[in-house]
Amino acid sequence: MKPNARSALIFGISGQDGAYLAQFLLDQGYAVHGTSRDVEGSSFAGLRALGILDQVRVHSATLQDFRSVAQIVQAVRPAEIFNLAAQSSVGLSFQQPVETIDSIMHGTINILEAIRFLGLETRFYNASSSECFGNTGVAADETMPFHPRSPYAVGKAASFWAVANYREAYNLFACSGLLFNHESPLRPTRYVTQKIVRGAADIAERKTDTLTLGALDLARDWGWAPDYVDAMARMLKHDTPEDFVIATGVASKLQDFVDAAFRCFGLDWTAHVQTDQAFMRPSDISLSVGNPAKAERLLGWKATVTMPDLVGKLVEAELAKRALSR
Ligand code: NAP
Repeated sequence: MKPNARSALIFGISGQDGAYLAQFLLDQGYAVHGTSRDVEGSSFAGLRALGILDQVRVHSATLQDFRSVAQIVQAVRPAEIFNLAAQSSVGLSFQQPVETIDSIMHGTINILEAIRFLGLETRFYNASSSECFGNTGVAADETMPFHPRSPYAVGKAASFWAVANYREAYNLFACSGLLFNHESPLRPTRYVTQKIVRGAADIAERKTDTLTLGALDLARDWGWAPDYVDAMARMLKHDTPEDFVIATGVASKLQDFVDAAFRCFGLDWTAHVQTDQAFMRPSDISLSVGNPAKAERLLGWKATVTMPDLVGKLVEAELAKRALSR
């Protein structure tokens, strides 16, 4: 079945990446549809913040339910499907392993099955994750073996292989992005980058004096979310379906992120930050850094923002938000 040209369906449009991707695709002239598990209950804060809620069509759909997925795919017949929906917190996945793995694994297979069942010539992007690699040592490229270190990563690794299997077995145009951490003002406070920026802002405003974090010596490859949704879109425009590592290629310690954030407020982080075992994970990744050479070569994609400029952008957005609410 031929899909509707220049139409896209985003599973998980209410999240950070869903909002930026919707904006990116609208700018390219796409008709954009998106799902939330409960349209009536979702605030769509990201779409609202970007001022585009009224430009997209939102539908309720539950990824773990094949009928729910097939119905929306059949109704929209999108040229491109992006699967961004999942329980996406690594920390929470240790407390909710079944829900996390189920939402990622069954959700991905249900979309693949719906495309196959309906015989749609739809291109499919799946949000996999750098977490699949575990500790990377050297910068990870697409050939590095997986070593998941959380239930979240186990689910993302399984869904990565499901996508590869459906591509090979059924000739679907299906690919996974192995995306490293990417941040923006749309991230909820549960994520450490927002916790740090908001914590430093609160200390600067004398609302509190202390910020409590987990391990500070781990290193991550942090990028800017709007750059990363551009990479997702490019993957579906490429001639052949392939998997790509999307990263800045720069690793920074969490401690350096904290330092950069506190400096923006003229504060010395060592006077305010304490660590607590309660925030440490049962198993964590000490170094995670990616090698985006393939994406640069084949997609012409390159990250435009790295640490500490990323921190500057997050702080700037936080200050603007606080000024507006006064
Ligand atoms: P996000 O803000 O958490 O958005 C994901 C969306 O998935 C949520 O808005 C939610 O929508 C839906 N969802 C949450 N729990 C679910 C569950 N148990 N079952 C089904 N759906 C659920 O995530 P994001 O940062 O935009 O990331 C998008 C995707 O990329 C995710 O799959 C994430 O794991 C992956 N990823 C993100 C990063 C990153 O650094 N941001 C890096 C690598 C990979 P409703 O509540 O409206 O249903």
